[in-house]
Amino acid sequence: MINPAEIKLLEAALQRLAEGFENLPDFTPQFDSNEVAAILDQAATRMQDNYPYHHPMYAGQMLKPPHAIARIAYAMSLWVNPNNHALDGGKASSGMEKECIEELGAMFGWRQPLGHLTGGGTVANLEALWIAGRLRPGKRILASDQAHYTHSRLSDVLGLPFSAVRVDEHGRMDLAHIEQLLKVGDVGTIVATIGNTALGAVDPLAEIIELAREHDVRVHADAAYGGYFGLASKVDAAARAAYRRLVEVDSIVVDPHKHGLQPYGCGCILFRDADVGRFYKHDSPYTYFSSAELHLGEISLECSRPGASAVALWATQKLLPLVQDGEFSKSLDHSLSAARSFHERLVASVAYVPLMKPELDIVVYMPSAADARLASARSRRVFALAAEQGLHLAMIELPTALVQVYVPELVANSATVTCLRSVLMKPEHNSWLEPIMSILEKAATAARE
Ligand SMILES: *Cc1c(COP(=O)(O)O)cnc(C)c1O
Repeated sequence: MINPAEIKLLEAALQRLAEGFENLPDFTPQFDSNEVAAILDQAATRMQDNYPYHHPMYAGQMLKPPHAIARIAYAMSLWVNPNNHALDGGKASSGMEKECIEELGAMFGWRQPLGHLTGGGTVANLEALWIAGRLRPGKRILASDQAHYTHSRLSDVLGLPFSAVRVDEHGRMDLAHIEQLLKVGDVGTIVATIGNTALGAVDPLAEIIELAREHDVRVHADAAYGGYFGLASKVDAAARAAYRRLVEVDSIVVDPHKHGLQPYGCGCILFRDADVGRFYKHDSPYTYFSSAELHLGEISLECSRPGASAVALWATQKLLPLVQDGEFSKSLDHSLSAARSFHERLVASVAYVPLMKPELDIVVYMPSAADARLASARSRRVFALAAEQGLHLAMIELPTALVQVYVPELVANSATVTCLRSVLMKPEHNSWLEPIMSILEKAATAARE
């Protein structure tokens, strides 16, 4: 689990950092290391009580281990503990954050967007919808009924009306339903999810943009999960068409802590038109306008923000630049391949039925069963039995009608079906499909007993 090189790299980085402060009178905080050691031992023992998120046999929720460089850079910066709330609090790390934002913007084809890092996708989407409400006061927000639940909740927080749009059999927003809702005339912003959390489906952005233009409506892209896949070469034609049009939307959310190899606490909001910065204007006497230059704390709803996140992301983007055909984009291709071969293996298996072909790296499937209730019960059994064998999955509740598109003979004796869901985010998943399938097959047999 721990590569000893990591500890050495951290030590070397800390030594270099300390050199910058050598001219100060010595000041080293002291503590009782025996006492600390004893408590750390307890903490580490407590932490053993986790699912093995870092391991390829964890094939459940959206959990991807941070890259070693992100962990080390993050830890190194904690000895200074910068706060990117203002330039005074996070002098170097604010500059690093700006460089990260420029590179993230460039990934979507934007030059110098207004943007900053956030605690995560939720706060980033909050800022996007807040600006949406300022520019289209009182107007409705539309998002897919498979969009992250945060959009309806944030609309409620912001006092904006919200409507959910039906999805088609691929899990993508239904264009006819959008058109019908647009005709009412009260829509201000459409949220297109670029890789939804449940299924990894990419909403048809090209068509959404055309509809939005016709009705003078804004478009926000929630690419918290899928944003980085624009760099991959193996996305299918439909998704590719959506990624090409991201450059035209009004705002984008992307989560470096999802596919960007970062520790939690790293989301990002980008606005195409830097002019929206005027809505953030405040005149708190506590923020230190220490320079005429814009600092990102002035255009963020959150005040204190971890400079460490910016340092970690900066280091990661240096090692793995956000370019097509680079090492990072290839690792995304590995995840896409893993999901596709997993889907094929499930098609070949008599014990399981997969639903839609994965558009990104999320695979949804269910144990073969005659009716919805039995399928749900078997999914729950497989989930538990696989965990006993060290394979960790996730579950998802889907409308029976959607499941029946893929399993037409399934008897609908309940409104929803509990299915299994595996997010194959780790590029290594590609070479672990054999043991994963073997445990799944055994679990399916046992689940029938
Ligand atoms: C994860 C996710 C969010 C929420 O982001 P957090 O970082 O968990 O706050 C929003 N939208 C989508 C599409 C997501 O996948």
